[in-house]
Amino acid sequence: MADPKETRSVTEPKQAHRAWSLYLFNVAGIPIYLHFTFLIMLVVIAVMQANGRPLFGGGVIFVLLVFTSVVLHELGHALVARYYGIKTDDIVLYPIGGVARLRSLGEGFQEFWIALAGPAVNVLIAALIYAALILPGGPEWVPLAKLDPEKTSSFQQMSMWQNLWFVNVVLVFFNLIPAFPMDGGRILRAILVQKFPKEKATAIAAKIGQGLAIAFMLFGFMNNQIFLMFIGLFVFLAAGQEAAATRSAALMAGKLARDAMITHFDILQHGDSLGRAADLLLATSQQEFPVLNGSQVMGLLSRKSLVQGLVTHGREHYVAEVMEREYPRAKPDEDLQKVYEMMIADRARGLPVLVFDHDRLVGYINNENLMEYLLIAQTRHNNSH
Ligand code: ZN
Repeated sequence: MADPKETRSVTEPKQAHRAWSLYLFNVAGIPIYLHFTFLIMLVVIAVMQANGRPLFGGGVIFVLLVFTSVVLHELGHALVARYYGIKTDDIVLYPIGGVARLRSLGEGFQEFWIALAGPAVNVLIAALIYAALILPGGPEWVPLAKLDPEKTSSFQQMSMWQNLWFVNVVLVFFNLIPAFPMDGGRILRAILVQKFPKEKATAIAAKIGQGLAIAFMLFGFMNNQIFLMFIGLFVFLAAGQEAAATRSAALMAGKLARDAMITHFDILQHGDSLGRAADLLLATSQQEFPVLNGSQVMGLLSRKSLVQGLVTHGREHYVAEVMEREYPRAKPDEDLQKVYEMMIADRARGLPVLVFDHDRLVGYINNENLMEYLLIAQTRHNNSH
């Protein structure tokens, strides 16, 4: 009944909607999205090209080739992850690069190979372009030493294919910077994990990343490179987030759904009116209410659906007509980390995970309550050190 596989298929939308993103296509079952900021960049480049001021040789075609390189980089991560049995939810492309959302980063050294696979793809692309360019009869290869910095920008002196080669070389070095969320940060952590517990390894890798980020920001500030300052700030924040996520994972390790679930809560009967639900929302601190028929759970009324129901139907309407009928569910002995992953997979709706002992509702876990649980676990964790 509460088989985890079944739960997954109930809670997962078929084609997950990504905010501010345009769905492009599937590769090997992985949906690829274009973030709207990427579209803006494409438009800007197309306009510059139309005005006869191309930013790069090749204009929009060049940008599409760069885009292909980035997609292949992310697919490198995703396909090696698949080899280890890790699913990729989707790949989203931003102007500064792509992000493959993996369900897990892999255990121990798996993370090393998954992280390395991305830059390795760019090494391969760069090598292939180089080989094609130096072959007799191929497009011309301008030796880098012959580029004249006095004349025009290096971009304009190189052919489009040589520019693409250059971009792939930059992608390799940029991604190998040993700072989260760059691949280099993950490679560093995978190496540190051989010596230290995961939480410690992440903390060290995050510190190194934040140190580098500060160096970027200072260097950018002193040399008037606003772009470098932004990258530094971005890396600094991301490194902190990564450390926090690993800390919560360490706190959740070995804990079960029953340890963190809310056990005192009010319920609604399916014949109750929205007016009664609204009164209960005000009288309690609950944000969501299980809806029962006798002792059997029929659905879940979230605050959002309650308010929407009140607006469109009024107080006399039945809760059963606006409640959610599909919601994430778990067993009391489900791993807390799994419960958390279910919440993340369902975060667009923000529903809690209902905990069932066979068919009986014994509790539920929402995001707020899980955070409180981690906060308390953290104090216990600190005291025991
Ligand atoms: Zn990567």
